[in-house]
Amino acid sequence: MKRLNPNVRLDFSRTRRYFAAMASIFGHVAASTALGYSFFPKQIRRTTLLLAGFCAFAPDLDVLAFRYGIPYESQWGHRGWTHSIVFAIVFGALMYLLLKLLSPKNTVNYKAGIWLILSTLSHPLLDMMTNGGRGCALWWPFSTERIFFPLRPILVSPMSIGGFIGEWGMRVLMSELFWIGVPAVVMVLVCRGRFDRTTSE
Ligand SMILES: [Zn+2]
Repeated sequence: MKRLNPNVRLDFSRTRRYFAAMASIFGHVAASTALGYSFFPKQIRRTTLLLAGFCAFAPDLDVLAFRYGIPYESQWGHRGWTHSIVFAIVFGALMYLLLKLLSPKNTVNYKAGIWLILSTLSHPLLDMMTNGGRGCALWWPFSTERIFFPLRPILVSPMSIGGFIGEWGMRVLMSELFWIGVPAVVMVLVCRGRFDRTTSE
């Protein structure tokens, strides 16, 4: 087995920028999971849960733009085109097609597709409630304006993984637990209560 050379220092300076200004992956995945259990309980499977979580996180893959020197403020930069309604519809639909291809007996309902689209869309909507970074290009390609919601109670994520481990990371998690986790649980309980009532009638 190849051993790591202890004299080689790993350079995380670029990686740090890639984690700039995003509601953490925990908050995004919590939102997609809650959407599934609230509105699409019959579509819940391990594959759909994983794919919905991926959809909720995927817009932040745009941090790779930093690697190619694309500035944050560009429509192709972080929180740009991947944080739009159009992207959510196209990406969610593509993931739905993938899900259909992966399912052996074509048992996937179109509602799973709606869940995947909403999961992708939940990402920019949550980012627009964070108190840092730039706004999201929600209306791209019709407008490249970066926008936020008037209320932005969610603490923005650290710029680095290291920052996440520290005090700031804990504060972000607490903030997301309160502003995303609690509403998500309430939404699931309310919707499941209604769903259980309607199915037992
Ligand atoms: Zn984001």
